[in-house]
Amino acid sequence: MQQFLHAKQCRWQFLLTAFGLSEESLGFQCGKCDQCRKIDRGQPTIS
Ligand SMILES: [Zn+2]
Repeated sequence: MQQFLHAKQCRWQFLLTAFGLSEESLGFQCGKCDQCRKIDRGQPTIS
C-alpha cells in the first residue's frame, strides 16, 4: 500500500502491474487519476 501511495506512475498502471499485466501496463496512462493529472501538468510529486 505504501508503494501505491508513493507511486509516481498512473494508478491504473500500477494496478495492472500488480495483477501481472506488466506488458499491458507499459506506458499506460488512464488520464483520469491524480497521478496522470500531475504527469500531464508536469508538476513534481510532493512527498
Ligand atoms: Zn492514471
